[in-house]
Amino acid sequence: MEFEKICNLDNIDLHVHTRYSADSFMSPEKIVRFAEKYKKIIAITDHNEIAGALEAKKCDRENRIIIGEEILALDIGAEILAYDIRKKIEAGKAAEIIKEIHDQGGMAVLAHPFRSGYLWRKKIPAYPDDIIQAIDGVEVWNTRNSRKENAKALLFAENYKKIKARGSDAHMMWELYFGNYNCILLNLLKNFLTVLIKQIKKIRF
Ligand SMILES: [Zn+2]
Repeated sequence: MEFEKICNLDNIDLHVHTRYSADSFMSPEKIVRFAEKYKKIIAITDHNEIAGALEAKKCDRENRIIIGEEILALDIGAEILAYDIRKKIEAGKAAEIIKEIHDQGGMAVLAHPFRSGYLWRKKIPAYPDDIIQAIDGVEVWNTRNSRKENAKALLFAENYKKIKARGSDAHMMWELYFGNYNCILLNLLKNFLTVLIKQIKKIRF
């Protein structure tokens, strides 16, 4: 499976946002230039939107960008990452989102499955068996997660024999440079800045 091979590369970042997400200012074109300069494969995964990924794809001369989306599964209070899709998928029920991803020939990956106490998500969602069966992969490394949350996700992926995906969850350009580097202070700063950007955007637009 080609996607599985991609996930094992060192120069991969499967979770990046653009200004098409309410909490990010990043330019799709700048992400493409970053990917070219540092020889990376990057999936653009905006919240419930693929316009940023499509914009990036237009100037992606070296084919380094994967069209993705981070879709809110309202019924289980979790987010599902879609990779290699063609059409935007609306937030909705987890099972329907996964089916739509598969119908489009894409891969469905559970985003940061054990992140807790983070903005809108107060507790860790419960993952029903049918959803676990249906997903292709689990995000086992998210740079914004704590080490404990990532360790739990890795164990979960191994138990259920799922593809392991990793990403920075970058919302700002400088986060791309940290890639898979993780530290608590950095996370606190990043989360603080993300909330700040959200508030500034509310005022400006
Ligand atoms: Zn994200």
